[in-house]
Amino acid sequence: MKRAVVMGGSYAGLFAARVLSDVADEVVVLEPDDIGADGTGSRAPQRRQLHALLAQGHRQLERWFPGITAELVADGARMGEGGDVRFYVDGRLKAPADGLRMLGAGRPLLESGVRRRVAALPNVRTVRTHARGLVLDGGRVRGVTTAEGEVVDAGFAVDAMGRSSRLGHWLEEAGWERAPVARMRIDLGYATASFRRGDELGTTVVAHSMAGPKSAYQPTLTEPGALAAVEGDRWSVVLAGYADHRPVADPAAFLARMRRCVEPLRTVAEACEMTGGVDTFRFTESVRRDYTRLGRLPGGLVAVGDALASVNPVYGHGLTLAALEANCLAAHLRSSGTAWREPGWGYFRRAAVAVDAAWQLSTTADLAQPHVTGPYPLGYRLLRWAGDRLTEASVLDSAVNTAYMNVAHLVEHPRALTRPALLLRAARVLLAAGDRA
Ligand SMILES: Cc1cc2nc3c(=O)[nH]c(=O)nc-3n(C[C@H](O)[C@H](O)[C@H](O)COP(=O)(O)OP(=O)(O)OC[C@H]3O[C@@H](n4cnc5c(N)ncnc54)[C@H](O)[C@@H]3O)c2cc1C
Repeated sequence: MKRAVVMGGSYAGLFAARVLSDVADEVVVLEPDDIGADGTGSRAPQRRQLHALLAQGHRQLERWFPGITAELVADGARMGEGGDVRFYVDGRLKAPADGLRMLGAGRPLLESGVRRRVAALPNVRTVRTHARGLVLDGGRVRGVTTAEGEVVDAGFAVDAMGRSSRLGHWLEEAGWERAPVARMRIDLGYATASFRRGDELGTTVVAHSMAGPKSAYQPTLTEPGALAAVEGDRWSVVLAGYADHRPVADPAAFLARMRRCVEPLRTVAEACEMTGGVDTFRFTESVRRDYTRLGRLPGGLVAVGDALASVNPVYGHGLTLAALEANCLAAHLRSSGTAWREPGWGYFRRAAVAVDAAWQLSTTADLAQPHVTGPYPLGYRLLRWAGDRLTEASVLDSAVNTAYMNVAHLVEHPRALTRPALLLRAARVLLAAGDRA
């Protein structure tokens, strides 16, 4: 491959550029924002919200950028494992999950670490411009047009333009089909604030609290929220709520709500000074574009990151999906010497496995909210019932919680939760707890 173009130079685009740098003579990243070395120039509005990197996301980060954890930690990020990473359901601390490691870092720091590594690759360069369309000829990508009307010749193009990607529109204009879109309306509100960090929580790096079966997934027993130790000796704290229970940008209201959260968030509300204001974000729906359902597709074209699927951020899947899709892209490109020229079915089928997993986890959980009205997957009632039992057992038992968290962190596929040995163990744990009660 002589040249590949990546449209969008944020997290997913950077991973795609890293993968392509192994197989293309040259990789050109088109990115309109002047993101800057510290990552603060990005206009992506979600960058100011707390971004948790799941255990699988961290593994893949190290896979593609070996040694990057040490660099990020030197820049102030924190690495947590064992008791440093605490998960709560309905106000109860869950049993420890073995081997779960999480990095505490702000999104700009994390992304700028990746950007620095990609910028150091000799065959990757970034051009500050918008992609405006595809040049298609003979059923294949031949290049990308820019906002300035120039054509960047390329045999392979990656859509990494985020949720608002216009690729479907461009394909339709050129006489191709637009990928079918699945949506789930969730009407989620998000709010993040920063606090000065001392030693009030010891070695804690991440604390994450959700409503569960005991509260019928409503914020009645405790407010859902999370915190992470990040660079600059700060706590980044996020609160989330659905529909009318959205958090607002008022600092006093934010603090009052933190005092109704689990103990680590309450402690930070009491002991630490809030620095700056509260940033809010409204996430109306989870969306995925399913290219595997198209009848035809131009050769040399794939989509990654939010341009492919963007799910409820409460579960922290986005960055990890982007990295898993990079693996899928690498596997597709390696599958034959000419795979890059052909329609990317192999890529989209692989990526769909990861996207299906994240979609299933997040939409099944979201359907527990009364205002979320579907679409319901086949067997939803059974999934919900089994999921509730596993969640309860994961509070009490380390082995069940390890299996549960491995799935939540996309280390294992959700089907791992249907293993008979795990279900039996969960049943025994719940029976024993019932006997004790
Ligand atoms: C409130 C909130 C909280 C979140 N929390 C988490 C979390 O805790 N953990 C997690 O893993 N994920 C989280 N996510 C998801 C995560 O932010 C996204 O999955 C991630 O940003 C996707 O990266 P991306 O590169 O695909 O898209 P984006 O980061 O949106 O980047 C798209 C890029 O494309 C560029 N672009 C747009 N149009 C063009 C064009 N025409 N030409 C060229 N470039 C273009 C943009 O400038 C931008 O740089 C959260 C999301 C939200 C909304």
